[in-house]
Amino acid sequence: MAACKNCGKEWTWKQTVVTLFRFRLICPHCGKRQYLTAASKSKTGLFGFIPIIAMPIFNLFHVSWWLIGIIMTPVLIVIWISYPYMIEFSK
Ligand SMILES: [Zn+2]
Repeated sequence: MAACKNCGKEWTWKQTVVTLFRFRLICPHCGKRQYLTAASKSKTGLFGFIPIIAMPIFNLFHVSWWLIGIIMTPVLIVIWISYPYMIEFSK
């Protein structure tokens, strides 16, 4: 789990998810803004490519929309659960 670069306290999974929904990475312990490292940005950015890669494949095989939903829902849940473990803060 990511730790604050200002106070050094580790964020819990729940704190990280709640903070991500606010779109501003503010430390819940000390209130200082945190910034993602370039490495964690590129790691999490890869998730954005999953739908971009998957959609033409689904289209190619004429996969129906309800099946896409069934396939993509667990993928999105896994991404959502693992996201807080992949981020790291820079100074
Ligand atoms: Zn802090």
